[in-house]
Amino acid sequence: MNLCDLREIKQIMQMFSLNFKKEFGQNFLTDNMVVEDIADMCCDFTAKTVLEIGPGIGSLTQELAKRYENVVAFEIDKGLIPVLKYTLGSYPNVKVINEDIMEADLKTVLAPYFEKGGVSVCANLPYYITTPILMKLLESGLPFDYITVMVQKEVADRLCAKTGGKDCGAITSVLAYYGSAEMLFRVNADRFVPPPKVDSAVMRIKLYREGERPYHPKSVDMLFRTIKAAFEQRRKTLPNSLSASFSELDKATLTGIVTSLGHSENIRGEKLTIEEFVALSDRLFEEINKKDA
Ligand code: SAM
Repeated sequence: MNLCDLREIKQIMQMFSLNFKKEFGQNFLTDNMVVEDIADMCCDFTAKTVLEIGPGIGSLTQELAKRYENVVAFEIDKGLIPVLKYTLGSYPNVKVINEDIMEADLKTVLAPYFEKGGVSVCANLPYYITTPILMKLLESGLPFDYITVMVQKEVADRLCAKTGGKDCGAITSVLAYYGSAEMLFRVNADRFVPPPKVDSAVMRIKLYREGERPYHPKSVDMLFRTIKAAFEQRRKTLPNSLSASFSELDKATLTGIVTSLGHSENIRGEKLTIEEFVALSDRLFEEINKKDA
């Protein structure tokens, strides 16, 4: 069964009386080479288990199942479950779970797999929910080796940008705290059915292991609060953006903190690198706790 063949995909959908559901971001890959490349490059083969989000009709799942000991795949659309039974029936190492990934208790589901060895994530993500899924994976605290995802090209550019550069957003700095992201390759919109409006790209995040993280903020919550504040008011200067979010500190104190770290008081938050965000959040943390003491 060639699950990337356009005619086969349409036949399968017809056989199970299904339509592509826009609300679930159903754009299925139609290029075998792309699917094989994603499965090959999603981790350095250290993984024993791969977590897939949104298997669709199972094209990527099949390639993952050929390469890794176990594949755990979460699919929200219950209409696709009988399809996946049909297309993946000959792969006993695949476990399909019919659940919204945002509702899933990943810690419990994946515990037995982490006991067996490394776990990585690989997915052609539904684009309507890319950032929430990435944040759930990163914030889960689960020691994934790699997270490899296909996302909209512009989103991949942003996620892989250097912090402090013109393409970065709050998510770039948050991601930089958890791991290092690299762009793997671009995929044109005509490689999908139905074709999405924009091109896509595959990117890979190598997560830092506990103890190997290069950044050590006094408070991780304060670091993320600082990043969020800096980007929420992108056009404002950094002291002004901070002042809109840190009501417990007055503007003069915030300006003093920014300049004491060697920045101009006119700098904008988006110019800060992850290292500079860590230093700034530490100073804010100290100042707030001094006030509370
Ligand atoms: N992996 C397939 C491929 O590459 O052809 C399908 C990818 S398609 C872009 C996204 C898939 O994610 C769809 O199968 C969709 O039903 C599923 N999906 C959407 N939202 C989801 C959610 N919240 N949890 C789990 N799966 C979801």
